[in-house]
Amino acid sequence: MKPLEAELDRARDLDVDALADAIETIGFECTRCGACCKSESGCGADDADEEPHTATVFPDEVRTLQSAADTDDYDWRDVARPMPYGLTEGPDGPEGETFEWALQTDDCGDCVFYEEGDDDYSGACAVHEDRPLICQTYPFSVDLGGTSQPMGEAVDEEGMVRAHECEGLGRDIDRADAVDLAEALKARAVRELEEAISVRDAFEPVETDTGEVVVHDSEGAKRPDGTPVDD
Ligand code: SF4
Repeated sequence: MKPLEAELDRARDLDVDALADAIETIGFECTRCGACCKSESGCGADDADEEPHTATVFPDEVRTLQSAADTDDYDWRDVARPMPYGLTEGPDGPEGETFEWALQTDDCGDCVFYEEGDDDYSGACAVHEDRPLICQTYPFSVDLGGTSQPMGEAVDEEGMVRAHECEGLGRDIDRADAVDLAEALKARAVRELEEAISVRDAFEPVETDTGEVVVHDSEGAKRPDGTPVDD
């Protein structure tokens, strides 16, 4: 069996109760600090230091966010940008081929859906009910090949559940919330591997012109506005 398919089988076999045990043991409560939604470098960083928020969003999640309650008439580009890894800096900006999409960012490099609060602990997500799986499961991930960051320290004996650095770790979580999080974590692992397999199978190299960006996702090759290259 090919490695990604084998990892997908492992993801489908993940035991939600065991994942919930690990989450319950380390504990977690979101403090609404916004660290996982904002630029790491902070607003106004020099170009060289700029590290915009970069979180993967899948094509169907982009469409969900386009039609989410507070995003009437959002364009594809309002929600997603080409994943920057793999692009090169050309005379007119980024160019080349890349894989997958990242949540769009604002002028500060923060997720475009992040709403700053009145203090450090009242930030909010404008699309909370429709947020992507990666946001639903932060700061946790599972240690399976083909799945995405955040990785981090193991929080269970088997090393399957990982937790990225986050100030919400260590806080009490009740069993029902731990199970909900564990279910989302498993769903995300399965989804990421299904997506990775589809991207691999749909991939066909595209000749790009100067200044052109092509994004390969599970539905084929697209322009930065989400339309297929073939159109
Ligand atoms: S979609 Fe919401 S939860 Fe996800 S990074 Fe943006 S503001 Fe944060």
